[in-house]
Amino acid sequence: MSTPLTPGPAKKSLGQHFLFDPSILSRVANAGGSVKGKTVIEVGPGPGGLTRALLDSGVGKLIAIELDDRFAEGLSLWPEVREGRLHVHHGDALAANIPELIAAAGGASPAMIVANLPYNVATPMLVEWLKAPAWRGTMVLMFQKEVALRICAAADEDHYGRLAVLSQAVTRPRLAITLPPGAFRPPPKVDSTVVVLDPLPDHERFNDLAGMETVTAAAFGQRRKMLRAALKTLPGAVDALTTSGIDPTRRAETLTQQDFRALTAAWRATR
Ligand code: SAM
Repeated sequence: MSTPLTPGPAKKSLGQHFLFDPSILSRVANAGGSVKGKTVIEVGPGPGGLTRALLDSGVGKLIAIELDDRFAEGLSLWPEVREGRLHVHHGDALAANIPELIAAAGGASPAMIVANLPYNVATPMLVEWLKAPAWRGTMVLMFQKEVALRICAAADEDHYGRLAVLSQAVTRPRLAITLPPGAFRPPPKVDSTVVVLDPLPDHERFNDLAGMETVTAAAFGQRRKMLRAALKTLPGAVDALTTSGIDPTRRAETLTQQDFRALTAAWRATR
């Protein structure tokens, strides 16, 4: 059986902080429920600790996307590649055509995503995946703890902002496992937290995520201002406050998920 590869020096530019403790890795692999028989995308397998845990937990097809040549090459030698259970894609996960990778691997949709993400690109990756309903199932993602809190926060809470509104428009996120810096090699500066994001059923999803991105960018761009001032930068948005029945003297951080849905729909109707 192949074991995690011995890494060379970690590359800071690629956000490399590795996990090697099998009990932690098994908890992360299964934090979103059983992966048995499922198709799973792992972004940034690195030396393969989480990859090993996923394979040992019975994943059906594992598609591992890695940018660092050393790890992509090492992982392609694992026996599970020959057996057709592990598919290594050498490249940038942000540029990868994931539906194509799933089809090429003979995998099934929806596919789970399980990853200890490179922190420098974790947020853009999440936002990209939130917009991709056709193939995406439950996501189990490790972030800096502060980012995890931002994903799960509710209106009026300290960490509430764009990331919470967008994440909760299409998923139900929850904090699952928090790890101290010492759990990683090399250790990062801050705690890390696994967030599990279960997709909302179709009838509960908000379908205009692009519109919500635009509206939340304007609303939270000047979060301390009243909405009637903050939204002036976005044509149609101040009128949309009135049509959606939202008091224009409120601040963005007080608007709930339902408020942002109503505001986005009203703004879209002005376009
Ligand atoms: N999964 C491993 C673990 O838990 O030990 C490694 C996690 S490490 C935090 C992040 C990994 O993502 C690194 O292996 C890094 O090379 C890879 N990576 C960074 N940017 C990437 C990108 N844009 N696309 C794919 N992989 C990337």
